[in-house]
Amino acid sequence: ADHCFDYPAHPDDVQWKDLYPEYDAYNPPKKVEFADIGCGYGGFLVTLGEMFPDRLAIGMEIRVKVSDYVMDRIKALRSLHPGKYNNIACIRTNAMKYLPNYFVKHQLDKMFFLYPDPHFKKAKHKWRIINQALLSEYAYVLRKGGLVYTMTDVEDLHKWIVKHMEEHPLFERVSADEEANDPITPKLYQSSEEGAKVVRNKGSHFLAIFRRL
Ligand code: SAM
Repeated sequence: ADHCFDYPAHPDDVQWKDLYPEYDAYNPPKKVEFADIGCGYGGFLVTLGEMFPDRLAIGMEIRVKVSDYVMDRIKALRSLHPGKYNNIACIRTNAMKYLPNYFVKHQLDKMFFLYPDPHFKKAKHKWRIINQALLSEYAYVLRKGGLVYTMTDVEDLHKWIVKHMEEHPLFERVSADEEANDPITPKLYQSSEEGAKVVRNKGSHFLAIFRRL
């Protein structure tokens, strides 16, 4: 329930230095630019950290045990590889409610929604993490030209995502060529735990990337 969440009143209140050990030493200063929404066990977040050592990525995960696992995983990686993985962190939060409490307007460059919970039943569709009401919030925290990456193994959810994103005036889907040439694309298939499971089970993957206009 919400009363369990300790969330900042404003992005300025976030203690970023507690999340990123080198935060205060960055010159020029850096801000978090990548957000992995519902990061699960953090496999993709770790990949992001490796691919973009100079940029800050955050995983947001609502389940306590899962977010604790990711935090421990990052701690362990940092002690095994001194000087590395200081650019990734995880917070436990409800990303459907608190994004504007963490990020200022146009702060993010990329948002990732990888294998989000499908909420199959019609009555539960409002819980889908991509929905009409939330897209404007995502557009607010994303910079112009920023990208939203979505990947799912559920075709119905993929169609839902594409429909809602395309209907929104502030998003357009990028071309198949651009999708294929993005260096992140190959990582979306299996660097997260859910993606790896789909690969193991030889399931389908449905990718869509959208630009914030
Ligand atoms: N992205 C990960 C992956 O690909 O392995 C995890 C996929 S899992 C099916 C969906 C995750 O989203 C779960 O870990 C769930 O706890 C998390 N989640 C669901 N709703 C959320 C919310 N409102 N805020 C943050 N995380 C959420």
